[in-house]
Amino acid sequence: MTPIDPAQPESAAPAWPQRYAGAIMPTFAPPLALLVRGAGCYVWDDAGTEYLDFLAGIAVTALGHAHPELVAAVTAQVGAVAHVSNYFASTPQIELAERLTRLTGAGEAGRVFFCNSGTEANEAAFKLARLNVGETGKRTRMITLTDSFHGRTMGALALSGKPAMRAPFLPVPGGVEHIAPTLAALEAAIDDTVAALFLEPVQGEAGVIDLPEGFLRRARELCTEHGALLILDEIQTGIGRTGAMFAYEHAGIQPDALTLAKGLGGGLPIGALVTFGAASTLLQRGQHGTTFGGNPLVTAAGNAVLGVIERDDLAGNAARRGAELRELILGFDSPLISGVRGRGLLLGIALTQPVAVELAAAAFAAGLIVNAPNPLTIRLAPPLIVGDAEVAEFERRFGRALAVVTNAHAAAGASVAQAPVARS
Ligand SMILES: *Cc1c(COP(=O)(O)O)cnc(C)c1O
Repeated sequence: MTPIDPAQPESAAPAWPQRYAGAIMPTFAPPLALLVRGAGCYVWDDAGTEYLDFLAGIAVTALGHAHPELVAAVTAQVGAVAHVSNYFASTPQIELAERLTRLTGAGEAGRVFFCNSGTEANEAAFKLARLNVGETGKRTRMITLTDSFHGRTMGALALSGKPAMRAPFLPVPGGVEHIAPTLAALEAAIDDTVAALFLEPVQGEAGVIDLPEGFLRRARELCTEHGALLILDEIQTGIGRTGAMFAYEHAGIQPDALTLAKGLGGGLPIGALVTFGAASTLLQRGQHGTTFGGNPLVTAAGNAVLGVIERDDLAGNAARRGAELRELILGFDSPLISGVRGRGLLLGIALTQPVAVELAAAAFAAGLIVNAPNPLTIRLAPPLIVGDAEVAEFERRFGRALAVVTNAHAAAGASVAQAPVARS
């Protein structure tokens, strides 16, 4: 009989990183931890370590983790009826569509198509745009921005302004042009041959990049003038995140179509395409569909999320907390920080050196979850429920991480400078 080695009590069962690597397709980097529980703005791993979650599953868990009203709504719905197919209607689905047409300002002319993710919402928007050919059929061009991110399926990949992401999968659907996010490029691009302009009001995945001042308003004017659809991808910026229910409200405009996902289900997978005015009549029966899209379970989650956001004015909270966080971050007065981009609770900390990955790792070691969308940016997208205590805890933990990385670079700089001396 093999004796049990007390030094390796778990030798018979491989640890989760090995099991993960042995079973999950390697499309993602190895996970940072195995999370087992969440409550509010905190999550815990399998060793019981607590983390302050300032990423919210990438702008998804808008109400934080295990919000009692979301738990109750989903529990009740899964116990009543979770899925009915689109041969049947359900009350949560109708209710969520009505809420969205009201909250977006699309009103009675507005319509909603439900799907299961952000990329699917953009696929639906892409098909919508293909139908906007105009009377002479000459509107065929789709315009998006360089560095934009609209998702990973083929149509959304074609829209995304990330050539490296597209390259291995060519050909992607054609007719898409990527322009620089400048007013001059916008003026030059939009004419009567454009079917649609796709924009993120803040480019989240690119590193929380704001559009130039006046860009959205001018985009609205040009699209109206030339019959192009203005399609806003608010998958990351929508549902209260930037301090308004939708980021276009800050610009005082309305799009022709809007795509949503991430925060809408508070953690349950749901996406939506919302159309305004005449754009609501483009997609006809049989032209698009989905099995799961808008089922009672996920739409019940969406109703719970929007209900709490409206009742508790979490968009207002996002505006206030975002302003506090911006001030606090600039107050660190660190040589590593050059500024803060974004709006509300979608913030990008701009760094002076490409240390974002290292800083995010130091934050994680200090019990804080943030991420590095590029080497010069730390992204914050905390739950919309953050309060005084979480902001204060962020200050402590991020301050610790900042000190670690600042010292490491000061030390590295010193040792580089001293190296020749030490050798001589
Ligand atoms: C996340 C994101 C998407 C893709 O959403 P998925 O649910 O991952 O498919 C599209 N557009 C924007 C702006 C996003 O932030």
